Amino acid sequence: SSSSDEKDLVIIGGGVAGYVAAIKAGQEGLKVTCIEKRGALGGTCLNVGCIPSKSLLNNSHMYHQILHDTKNRGIEVGDVKLNLANLMKAKDASVAGLTKGVEFLLKKNGAEYIKGTGSFVNENEVKVALNDGGETTVKGKNFLIATGSEATPFPGLEIDEKRVITSNGAIALEKVPESMLVIGGGIIGLEMASVWSRLGAKVTVVEFLGQIGGPGMDTEIAKAAQKTLKKQGIEFKLNTKVVSGDTSGEKIKLDVDATKGGKSETSSQLEAETVLVAIGRRPYTAGLGLENIGLDVDERGRVIIDSEYRTKIPHIRCVGDATFGPMLAHKAEEEAVAAVEYIKKGHGHVNYGCIPSVMYTYPEVAWVGQSEQDLKNQKIPYRVGTFPFSANSRAKTNLDTEGYVKMLADPETDRLLGVHIIGPNAGEMIAEGTLALEYGASTEDIARTCHAHPTLSEAFKEAAMATYSKAIHF
Ligand code: FAD
Ligand code: NAD
Repeated sequence: SSSSDEKDLVIIGGGVAGYVAAIKAGQEGLKVTCIEKRGALGGTCLNVGCIPSKSLLNNSHMYHQILHDTKNRGIEVGDVKLNLANLMKAKDASVAGLTKGVEFLLKKNGAEYIKGTGSFVNENEVKVALNDGGETTVKGKNFLIATGSEATPFPGLEIDEKRVITSNGAIALEKVPESMLVIGGGIIGLEMASVWSRLGAKVTVVEFLGQIGGPGMDTEIAKAAQKTLKKQGIEFKLNTKVVSGDTSGEKIKLDVDATKGGKSETSSQLEAETVLVAIGRRPYTAGLGLENIGLDVDERGRVIIDSEYRTKIPHIRCVGDATFGPMLAHKAEEEAVAAVEYIKKGHGHVNYGCIPSVMYTYPEVAWVGQSEQDLKNQKIPYRVGTFPFSANSRAKTNLDTEGYVKMLADPETDRLLGVHIIGPNAGEMIAEGTLALEYGASTEDIARTCHAHPTLSEAFKEAAMATYSKAIHF
């Protein structure tokens, strides 16, 4: 069949970028269709990313805490057992509830949802191979590519999602492996290392660089994070490059080179039952038919766009993981709204200097704005203020005092330049830093804002006090 009515906007991909754009377009009165091949909306984030990983992180943390951190709280527990199948079921239930919720929101806002794989026939038509069989063609005035990303494979190590896994396998293992090697100490590596280490696996993280956390994490905070993760039982091999792997034996073997300044010094071998490949993600545009419309991707596979998300064919735009910028769900969401606003009103806005990052380990690590090493590298002068949670009353009463808040500000104007937190609830607390940065606050503005007592957020206020003057409680 072929629907002859032309849509105002046709979206390919129903991940965070695509489904948010569909809802926004519906709200703006545009005739919109969203094409998704997965069989469920929400993309990587809802189905195999943010949401399932956070379910596993939350519940594995609870399990670990009940095992190791109850006695000094006056709680005595009996036999504690892990039921991995039910842990996974709880995760699946969260995912199913949210994806259904998104489907309802599209309906509510009048956005059409087609289950199938979209491919450009020409600049004005997308052919859809329907999941249920058959084909349809959708015509549009505007198009939005929101096809997301996939795990970057490691050359020579075939992914079977059982022994050699990406995050897709890591959120769905059927038993706790006795040992796990993680290639890449970025956010995925560390979140999944945390989950499986808490559940009983012996985990070693191999990281090419001299610091964990992936791009953007403040070096000092990354060191603190590594220290606490090590205390929890995770081993680290930094400045170590995985060169090749061998899956033929009972255990998987990895050849690694210790590097110094990028140069290989010594070689050795590591082995484990399971290997997690977490060396980054790459844009996914396979089967999209970009070649049929002459659209280019860059050397890293990213769809090339201008500041208004337009490809060189101006009515075809791209947002989210498939194009430039950090691969984060909230970044994709902001861009989706902005892209629809450009289409409808001619203007939209995303502040790329003000996108928070959160690593949901325990404790959490969160940051926004520039890191200390960013400022040093650019020779931008700055002032630092810190405040430890060990001096915060709420953290103390919670017996949860690891970590600190670090602020960076302009020494002349006191304008906030960056906030870096490691500590309990850092992921929630960073919202305050993001708001302050977005509004161009000074650290004195933050410090003179009343914060409720006793809350962890007082550590945020006191770090601001320490930046422009002095903290009271430290
Ligand atoms: P995607 O979510 O990848 O969605 C793209 C969709 O397009 C997919 O569903 C795909 O099936 C569909 N598609 C592709 N091609 C076609 C086609 N031709 N036709 C039809 N459909 C198509 N980010 C955070 O901000 N916070 C987190 O805590 C977080 N945790 C993560 C944990 C893991 C394990 C992973 C892997 C990622 C995590 N991320 C997190 C990153 C986040 O998932 C992505 O940034 C986000 O999903 C990007 O959204 P997107 O819509 O651009 O792409
Ligand atoms: P990443 O880029 O954050 O980290 C990959 C790490 O692997 C880097 O530190 C890199 O130096 C290392 N590496 C690369 N090749 C290596 C090799 N041969 N040997 C050893 N180490 C090697 O990528 P990721 O952790 O895979 O995550 C992918 C994307 O998903 C990121 O953009 C991330 O922001 C996003 N994500 C976000 C969250 C979150 O916001 N909480 C959670 C999961 C994923």
